[in-house]
Amino acid sequence: MRVLLIGSGGREHALAWKIAASPLLTKLYAAPGNPGIGREAELVRLDIADHAAVVRFCREKEIDLVVVGPEGPLVAGIADDLRAEGIRVFGPSKAAARLEGSKGFTKDLCARYGIPTAAYGRFGDLASARAYVEKAGAPIVIKADGLAAGKGVTVAMMLDEALAALDACFDGSFGQAGAEVVVEEFLTGEEASFFCLCDGTTALPFGTAQDHKRVGDGDTGPNTGGMGAYSPAPVMTPEIIDRTMREIVEPTMRGMAETGAPFSGVLFAGLMITDKGPKLIEYNTRFGDPECQVLMMRLKDDLLVLLNAAADGQLAHTSVRWRDEAALTVVMAARGYPGTPEKGSVIRGVEAAAGDGVEIFHAGTAINGGALVANDGRVLNVTATGRTVGEAQKKAYAALDRIDWPQGFCRRDIGWLAVAREQAN
Ligand code: AMP
Repeated sequence: MRVLLIGSGGREHALAWKIAASPLLTKLYAAPGNPGIGREAELVRLDIADHAAVVRFCREKEIDLVVVGPEGPLVAGIADDLRAEGIRVFGPSKAAARLEGSKGFTKDLCARYGIPTAAYGRFGDLASARAYVEKAGAPIVIKADGLAAGKGVTVAMMLDEALAALDACFDGSFGQAGAEVVVEEFLTGEEASFFCLCDGTTALPFGTAQDHKRVGDGDTGPNTGGMGAYSPAPVMTPEIIDRTMREIVEPTMRGMAETGAPFSGVLFAGLMITDKGPKLIEYNTRFGDPECQVLMMRLKDDLLVLLNAAADGQLAHTSVRWRDEAALTVVMAARGYPGTPEKGSVIRGVEAAAGDGVEIFHAGTAINGGALVANDGRVLNVTATGRTVGEAQKKAYAALDRIDWPQGFCRRDIGWLAVAREQAN
């Protein structure tokens, strides 16, 4: 098979690494990719936003499957434009990607299908949003409706904070994404990420993970795209997974099909496991980054077989097997992240630090004058497997400490909750 992978982060490096291991693969291209992905795939210069150019490339290179990593191209309708030209794609249509692209759309779907989620209101103007928030009181959650690169959500513990967040949305701080606002009840419990591969009708459970969003140890400091993750998530017991499938994922699949937008691709449910059971916080319509990295380390089966089955509507006849091991990834970031990261510092010793159950996935790296350099905020994902989360954590940090990059930083406590649980047992 000839495959084109779209994206350039650590998520896509992990996907490339796993796709490259498939005996079905004859050629892997990646656009735009990064130096790590370049070890697994031929990197191509393609403007991903120019869907006609992507179609031309697929024709020319006789691509059998396009795998779309990030949400941006999906929300922009790349899967529709490729399918319209008869090119097979793993990833949802633009209409189905509204599950991620519009929080209001998802909340309305939940309301129609009785899917457990936080109580909410949708508002298109400041005055009515303010009135609702003042009546409901704090703690309360304010969300810009559209994609705001993870920055559109404010969990407000005080009323002032909530009102300031409303002002920011309607001021245009998030552009078009904030023209509409969702106000939500504050949920308490433990958060977990749950993934399914979907083919329009069938959803196949595809692993659990937990991530760390705050930049600092002890879950302090500003939010980031994610500073680390581990899999599986202990809170996702077989019973909770079963309830999540029945109460959340299956009604979503039904609802999407009934609204004429059947969902195929990865459905990533961000859940709050409350004392009343799992509640949906949000959907993403692609793999999490860095959750994908730990899932790929644990996946026993051929990823390409599974992606094909999803693209062809054949998941009902497919199963998935996992290694009986935990995996954990630590993100190394460039100084300044999640603000403006310092670019260009040289990173040494990456290749030598990998091996023996440790993979180092590249995110924001580049080659400059033959040297590997930092080129974005999140730069490397040091990923290890182990019999327990604790063992994977030890291996990941031991590998990370062999990397010579004085300008990089990481959290030192990735996996703390799971490790504390393991130690208590
Ligand atoms: P989201 O972008 O919707 O995933 O929100 C980002 C983060 O905000 C989530 O990972 C949660 O930690 C938190 N959050 C979002 N919605 C709620 C809610 N209704 N109650 C409590 N925390 C929330």
